[in-house]
Amino acid sequence: MGWKTLDDMDLNGKRVLVRVDINVPIVEGVVTDSTRIRRLMPTVRDIIAAGGRPILLAHFGRPGGERRKNLSLNQLVPTLERAFGTKVLFVDDCVGPAAEEAAEALHPGEVLLLENTRFHAEETKNDPALAAGMARLGEVYCNDAFSAAHRAHSSTEAIARLLPSCAGRLMQAELEALEKALGKPQRPVTAVVGGAKVSTKLELLGNLIEKVDYLVIGGGMANTFLVAKGHSVGKSLAERIMKDTAAEIMAKAEAAGCTIVLPSDVVVAKKFESHAPHEVLPADRCPEDGMILDAGPESLTAIKAIFEKSRTVIWNGPLGAFELEPFDAATNAAALKAAALTRAGKLVSVAGGGDTVAALNASGAAGDFTYISTAGGAFLEWMEGKTLPGVAALMRNG
Ligand code: AMP
Repeated sequence: MGWKTLDDMDLNGKRVLVRVDINVPIVEGVVTDSTRIRRLMPTVRDIIAAGGRPILLAHFGRPGGERRKNLSLNQLVPTLERAFGTKVLFVDDCVGPAAEEAAEALHPGEVLLLENTRFHAEETKNDPALAAGMARLGEVYCNDAFSAAHRAHSSTEAIARLLPSCAGRLMQAELEALEKALGKPQRPVTAVVGGAKVSTKLELLGNLIEKVDYLVIGGGMANTFLVAKGHSVGKSLAERIMKDTAAEIMAKAEAAGCTIVLPSDVVVAKKFESHAPHEVLPADRCPEDGMILDAGPESLTAIKAIFEKSRTVIWNGPLGAFELEPFDAATNAAALKAAALTRAGKLVSVAGGGDTVAALNASGAAGDFTYISTAGGAFLEWMEGKTLPGVAALMRNG
């Protein structure tokens, strides 16, 4: 793997600076989804069990280098205490004398939370001086924020050069699952890529056609490919100016031995609304005033058959306008199929990205997937084949 885990470090009595992602949604002071907090519990637990003293470093929102009360991490203390079952102390800066004193005074079994790293404008510039200030607080650095690893910031990249460094449990689980799915996967490998636009996922498609056996394209981006095949898609969401790019991707895929799977039938409505009247039509028969909002039943059968043949499925993006019933049908049914095959031990299934996770949760399939990434941007960049600076930094300094 090239990076160390908590098991490789001597943590006994040590102050362990842990970069976490606790950028959770808060509505009127209440945490509405604590998934990210739950997922970092093993790291905190294992550090404490090994005699280490965890000091949490994190960003919250986008304060743009200014102190903003509504973006203070102080408001998460009660939620963290409940989750960890330990006392969580807070200090209102992530560097400086007060933070150093609090870190020094931390007792075994306690956790220290530092204030939002992005209250310092230098954080997002990967400033080495800010990283040095943070590094003074600990003796070991542990990065458990895979979802922030695509950014080279002081608390994710520069700091890893200054202290003995390792991956936390969540980072380790993310990297191992992704490696299994795309690094050294069991073949055939199928990627499902859906969502709104081709333009936002061009690099992803380019990388995947080199690596996977089947590429199932769905959602709005499939419409752009239908246009490239010369079909009319009426009023559908499609990036018509990307049609040559889509044609190039299809040609490259063929040369690389990757089968691109587009919908052969589609669900068409006149309005972008829940329960809008709709009909199933062949993919080349969308009327001028129609809008393709989902893949049709024949397409779904084809996708399920490909899943049956596959040993690995990696998924980003919904197959249709999944927020609107019943245009979530293909996404739900395909997700449930992947979940059932995974449960039966026939498939490794990995999914990531905000919309994708919401769609898989809504279908009830998420629990049976092999792995659901907590990351959005980092998951995509990893699928695109990019080196994540936060991970690369762990490899440099073991
Ligand atoms: P993305 O953020 O690129 O993963 O795109 C997700 C968004 O694409 C969701 O809001 C979906 O509703 C939307 N979407 C997927 N398929 C369609 C479609 N056929 N027409 C319009 N929007 C779609």
